[in-house]
Amino acid sequence: MKLKSPLLLTLLAAIIGGFLILKQINDATDRHGRAAYAHTEALLACGPRPADSEGLKKAQQYISTELAKHGWSTMSQSLVRDTPLGKKTFVNLIARFQTEKLENLEDLKAINTKGILGAHLDSKMIPGIPDFLGADDAASACALIIELAAELGKNHPELAKQLEIVFFDGEEAFGENITPTDGLYGSRAYAFTLYERKPKPQFGIVLDMIGHQDLKIAVPADTDRKLYQSLLNAAQAKGYEKHYGMAKGSIIDDHLYLNKAGVPTIDIIGADFNHTHWWHQSGDDLDLISAESLTISYHTTMGMLIELLGR
Ligand SMILES: [Zn+2]
Repeated sequence: MKLKSPLLLTLLAAIIGGFLILKQINDATDRHGRAAYAHTEALLACGPRPADSEGLKKAQQYISTELAKHGWSTMSQSLVRDTPLGKKTFVNLIARFQTEKLENLEDLKAINTKGILGAHLDSKMIPGIPDFLGADDAASACALIIELAAELGKNHPELAKQLEIVFFDGEEAFGENITPTDGLYGSRAYAFTLYERKPKPQFGIVLDMIGHQDLKIAVPADTDRKLYQSLLNAAQAKGYEKHYGMAKGSIIDDHLYLNKAGVPTIDIIGADFNHTHWWHQSGDDLDLISAESLTISYHTTMGMLIELLGR
């Protein structure tokens, strides 16, 4: 074929260019990001997930079923606490890999734990937004953990055995903001189990708001330096470092009581979330979630787990 017309050449160049751009977009998302996206969709289909709700129970059931497919057992840690809305029951869902018996906290304490991976499953109850779903706060993080657990179970069983996974309940406050007496109900109760562990877990990773479009993450300024370095190493290995930074101050989230219990824990959380157009607003729905961001979060978290659990 002979191409003489400049118009034809331009057209051809445009087609090839368009194809390359399309390929680049597709390459930014992989099967792990797409799987995490599908799990996010499934969790949101359970409905809103505040403490003691049907939606939360359905979401916990979904997670247990998915994890069981890959060799993970789950147990519940239930607690009753006074809240601004009266007494409430909270349930943390805790998972271990290829364990013989996992029925109660005593069983849990008998299994060695090198690292903890957690996220909060509850969604905030917000006056005026009865159907608030908390897609990135924090269904997407729980969905990502399902995919991480599946992959660890399949390809890194020795590492999976050293990891404890927790889906916290009651991270969200019933009042507008988390206070010393409102919010972090589940992670606080879970952290108490850590005091009696021998040996003590070496690290924790908490994920929160890690699936939003145009991913921006800022860890608290008081994050353990080794864990922060591990995060940066994992991100750099994939060319994802521009998505990660450090906040100016500390952040109140589920990592707080784990740190207090002596387990250095990093909170990988959406940057400057309280200035976004979606945090604790109706925009925190599936439209906000990006399979590309989940791909980035997947590989960064997996990189950290492989490094930290393999030490
Ligand atoms: Zn929240």
